[in-house]
Amino acid sequence: MKPPIEGIDLENINTFRGPEDTAAVKEQMEGCQSAVIIGGGYIGIEVAEAYAQAGIPVTVIDMQDRLLATSLDKEFTDVLEAASKHHGLDFRPAETVKAFEGEDGKVKAVVTDQATYPADTVILAAGVKADDQWLRGTLEMDERGFIVTNEYLETSAPDVYAGGDSTCVPFAPTHEQVNISLATIARRQGIVAALNAMGQKVKMPELTGTSALSLFGYNFVSTGLKAASAAQYQGQVASRYVEEPLYPDFMRKEGKVAMKIYYDADDHRILGGQLMSKEDITDGITGLSIAIASGWTLEDLALADIHFMPRFDRPWHYLNVLAMAALDYKIGGADKLLF
Ligand SMILES: Cc1cc2nc3c(=O)[nH]c(=O)nc-3n(C[C@H](O)[C@H](O)[C@H](O)COP(=O)(O)OP(=O)(O)OC[C@H]3O[C@@H](n4cnc5c(N)ncnc54)[C@H](O)[C@@H]3O)c2cc1C
Repeated sequence: MKPPIEGIDLENINTFRGPEDTAAVKEQMEGCQSAVIIGGGYIGIEVAEAYAQAGIPVTVIDMQDRLLATSLDKEFTDVLEAASKHHGLDFRPAETVKAFEGEDGKVKAVVTDQATYPADTVILAAGVKADDQWLRGTLEMDERGFIVTNEYLETSAPDVYAGGDSTCVPFAPTHEQVNISLATIARRQGIVAALNAMGQKVKMPELTGTSALSLFGYNFVSTGLKAASAAQYQGQVASRYVEEPLYPDFMRKEGKVAMKIYYDADDHRILGGQLMSKEDITDGITGLSIAIASGWTLEDLALADIHFMPRFDRPWHYLNVLAMAALDYKIGGADKLLF
């Protein structure tokens, strides 16, 4: 999206959508003295990391009070903010961009409601909106502006199917139709639509919105419900945050995982999870995604049969530990948790 801000058409103010934008931005990095990224979502922070790694002073401005506010919970973004600061990134939370100042047609500074930041390159990463205005009046859209489809991804027009950022999918934790703008979702919808167009009857399954990020030496992965979406759940949501070593003591191998699980406080159905580590914990979020889509409870996950080999993990895999911690499993009333 290009917000209607004074000076928005100055040179070197870039959107960041596909390979053409990437090439233009990379060219502008040559000789760049300072860059400003507008938007601390996952696109903005990934671009900011590239500037920081190139040794170019970079500022990220966001209206929200923390980075990745809609993607990750505060326990994780606190770590990200400290790591990004350590790598020279200047994050300006709770500021609104008001104007761009230029010289000879090129951007020179970004003016917010609180300060002015010098910039010879600006990246707009304040949101992505589907390019579907031309469909208005052709296909039925819902009150939020998304194209309406049935479970076979058929639209209101015969033989016309829809998927991607301009549509919604059934969300496994809430069973509601939600928009999740991810390539993973669009691809699954593409296959379902194509199979149906070819005459097979394939229903769109419920999805969890699983995503991964690797930033400033940390891996962050997330699935299902989180702080930003917990209010959408009709029942009572509970959560538990745990930090655990990944390997047995005797391996003398560094490695920790921070994790959080969301679940229904009454029936313990798993609703969401986030993991963070310097190690590769992407398989863990795959496990949690499948657990959510399968309707698993904490009790199912606590004793799930997961491998053990000291170079990979402990006899209790961290997902077992996370579920046990949420259940507060203890031995005979002892203070110490079972694991
Ligand atoms: C910088 C960036 C990084 C991302 N990284 C990830 C990631 O790591 N993982 C992930 O899961 N998701 C990622 N995403 C999100 C992902 O790219 C989108 O969710 C996904 O591409 C949406 O698919 P789509 O088919 O709806 O739209 P698009 O992929 O944008 O495709 C729509 C296509 O339709 C064309 N089009 C538009 N209007 C017309 C018309 N009138 N006639 C003909 N053609 C038209 C467009 O030119 C475009 O090629 C990223 C997005 C961005 C911007």
